[in-house]
Parts: sequence; structure tokens; C-alpha cells
Amino acid sequence: MTFRMRRRFWSTIAIIVVAANAPAQTVTAKTAAAVQQRAVVVPSNDDLVARMIQEGTQRSHVDADLQYLLDVIGPRLTGSPEVRRANEWTRQKFLEYGADRADLEPWSFGIGWTRGPMTLRMLAPQHREMLGVSWAWSPGTKGPVAGDVVFMDARTQADFDRRFAGKLRGAWVMLGPAYPVVNAAAPPLTHADSAHNDSLARALGPHTNQEIEFYNSRIPLLAHEGAAGAIHDGAKQFGLFTMSGSPAYISPIPQIVIGNDNYAQLERLARRGERARIEVDVTNTFSRDTLEQWNTVAEIRGSEKPDEVVLLGAHLDSWDLATGGTDNGAGAIAVLEAARILKAAGVHPKRTIRFALFTGEEEGLFGSQEYAMRHEKELDKHQAVLVLDNGTGRITAMALQGREELRDMWKAMLQPVASLGPLMVRSGIKTGTDHLAFTPYGVPAFNYDQLTRGYDHTHHSQVDDYNHTVPSDIAQAATIMAVNAWQFADLSELLPRGPKH
Ligand SMILES: [Zn+2]
Repeated sequence: MTFRMRRRFWSTIAIIVVAANAPAQTVTAKTAAAVQQRAVVVPSNDDLVARMIQEGTQRSHVDADLQYLLDVIGPRLTGSPEVRRANEWTRQKFLEYGADRADLEPWSFGIGWTRGPMTLRMLAPQHREMLGVSWAWSPGTKGPVAGDVVFMDARTQADFDRRFAGKLRGAWVMLGPAYPVVNAAAPPLTHADSAHNDSLARALGPHTNQEIEFYNSRIPLLAHEGAAGAIHDGAKQFGLFTMSGSPAYISPIPQIVIGNDNYAQLERLARRGERARIEVDVTNTFSRDTLEQWNTVAEIRGSEKPDEVVLLGAHLDSWDLATGGTDNGAGAIAVLEAARILKAAGVHPKRTIRFALFTGEEEGLFGSQEYAMRHEKELDKHQAVLVLDNGTGRITAMALQGREELRDMWKAMLQPVASLGPLMVRSGIKTGTDHLAFTPYGVPAFNYDQLTRGYDHTHHSQVDDYNHTVPSDIAQAATIMAVNAWQFADLSELLPRGPKH
């Protein structure tokens, strides 16, 4: 079926909800007019849903499991002993909760990286100790390295060549203007404020192809210029850091992150022509060889169509500045809890419900892409992939990821859990997490919207820990994921595939 034919086929689906004992009802009359009709029946079983809601909200294991994952196992940087321990622990928990199988699926990750100690001090125009951390997959400094701070705000190669080339040897180079956090002493920014600041930041970011090309080549350029290292802005309030880095791009020079307050001070000093000088001493280590990593994969086998799969997913790995609470201990524990709820409520799904806790997400969606490659032959029979990775907040909506023809189906699916809402269905393409590993294969893959709960502040920062999680919200999310997984598992049809690319 060509793409064009495939598109026409999607838009003619009518959604019908059939309660176990009620006559068939047509949900959206308008689709009935479509030429080729194929009814997709969303199962409805009020008793079963009530049991799942009861289990998920009254007998939740979220808080206990979350505390163990965060407070006992801790930060789960891909490649670290801690993430391996988390793989093993979650595998055991899935079995304990009644999964038919639970395994660790290996994949080849790349060079591992371990954070070491770091000191940072300002030497001019004032003497003071400062706080900063190393960017991930960056080398250390081999002892204390002092250098002038250069505010490098070039946006193109030509601009760089004109103003900075040949002037950066031994310098600590700031990567562009500070993120516009307005008046850090004011009350915490609301999500709207963050969105406003994001728009200001986007205005600062690269736009033209020339600018994007230069933006992506800054680090090798600084290495070529003999810079001591690069300085990133934490871009958050209250001196919070952010974090990134990947073995897909091992940095040739040290890179550090400092809080937005300090970064903005250095920018102001530069703009007034005041010489600033810092000293950095950081030790990091790389593994000698490529490391193997694992996804934890468990399942409840389907009774009628065991080779058709509904996949609930979340990443188990986290950054290592704290214990990975809102990113993404919350999602990982929600998926584990969804499995427990399904078993405890006595669900016997027609299709297999599979649970995947991916690793390598923070470094580039590695684990989920590896899952997709390893299971490629099965993907045409993956009914749907549901991912949770927007923090600790309760689920608020489902974005249709371009599958507008599934709007009524999603409305019908969220209706039985409306008591846990409010819940919406909206248009919108979500990015930035593991569902994206499945869309190229045409698998219907979705990522829930969640209440922000300060996620802008916490994710990737040094306060992403248990204290900033909301276990009752995660329990709500786990319950909704369990109900949705059952609905997809017992849906009358295998959903049409999306476009493959
Ligand atoms: Zn995440």
C-alpha cells in the first residue's frame, strides 16, 4: 500500500466503544460517511477498570519503589554500575509483580564516562570559590588550569574569524549570551514564565543554516584554537545546573557548567570590558573499552494474539548530579507500577503487554533505538508504544503525534479514567524522548502530557531527587498507563501503521 493510499485508509476509521453488556454505539457519526469503514472497538469493562483504579490509587507501591530507586540505587548514568543495578532490581521487581518474563536485553553503548571531583574559583576581578560541574563525556584538566574568561557570542564562522580567531589560546570560553532568567530572587518562575524565557532564549539561538552549522562546530573550533575549555550556562534559576553530553561526541576539551547567576555576571563583566579570570581543576575518567548496556524488558503474555504487542516505556537512566527523580525515575517507576496494577487487578490481555525500561536515553535515545532494531521484525505487530518522560506530574493529556484520525479513539480510552483527570486529547507532535525511536517504523507511538511540577527547574539538575517528586501524581500516571495498555491489548483491530521513514 503506497503512502497516499495509506493516508486515505487512515482517515476512514470509525471508533465504536462496546461495553461488555451494552449494544454497539457509534462514537463519531461523521466518520461513518467515510467510504471504507473499519470499526475499531475500544474495550469497556467498568469492573476491571474500577479494580485497576482501586489498585493504583489505594494500594500503590510507587512511593516505596521510588524511594528505593532514588535513595538506595541513586544516579543512573548510562554505563555506570548504578544503572546496571537498577536494571537488575527492576527485572526482579517485574517478576515479583507477576510478569511472565523479565530480561535484560544487551546493546552496545560506547565509551563510558565517570564524573570526578571539580574545583572552580574566580581569580579576577575578585577572589571567590564558585560552584560548577563538568559537562558529561568531557575530559578533565590534568590539574588546575587558570585562564581568562572570553565571552564568545559569535553567531557565524565569519563573525568568529573576524573577532575571536587566534585570541582564545588558554582561555575559558563562554558559549554565547546568558539564558534570560529575570531577577533570580523573585518567586519561582511559573511554567508560563519559563515558556516566555524559552522564547527569549530561542531568539538568542542559531536560526540560519550558517548559524546552526557554526553553533554545532563551536567545540572543535575552540579545541583548534587551543582554548582551555568551554563554559555552559546552567540556564535555570537559583544556580541550578543542566547537563548533557554523549559518547556519540566525546569532547576534545574540558567543558563546565556554572549557574545562570554566575554566567550572567561573567557576561556583564565582559560587556563592561572588565577582565575576568578563573581556575578550574576537574578530574573525569573514560572507560578503556566500549561498554555493553541493557534495557530491562518484561511482559504479560497475551492470551489470543501473543505476537501482537502493546509497549509501555520509560527511560531508567538519568543524569548523575542528583538521583534522577523527575527525569526519569518517575516514569520508570510508573511503568513498573503499571505492570503491578495489571497483574493485581487480574487482567488477562488478548495481546501481549510489554514493559521496557530503556537506558542511554539521555545520551541520544540509544536504548530505545536499540530496542527497535533488535525487535524490528515484531514492530509491524506493535499495537502502540506509550512513553512517560515529562517529569513527576500527573498525566493531563495525550498528544496525537500527527495521528488525528485516532482522536476519538483516545477520547474513548481516557473516558473510563476521567475520575483521575482532567484529561484531554490534543493535536501536537512531541519530541525529546523514546517514543521517537518507533515513529520511523510506522508504529503508533505516543508520549503523555504531564503537569509541569517544576520540571523546568529539576530535570538534569542537582536537585532532581526524591524531594521534588510527587508520588501520588506518579500513581495516577501508572494507573492510566495500565488502563490504556489493557485497552490497546484488547482493541478489536491492530491499528494502521503510520508513515515509515
Ligand atoms: Zn527524560
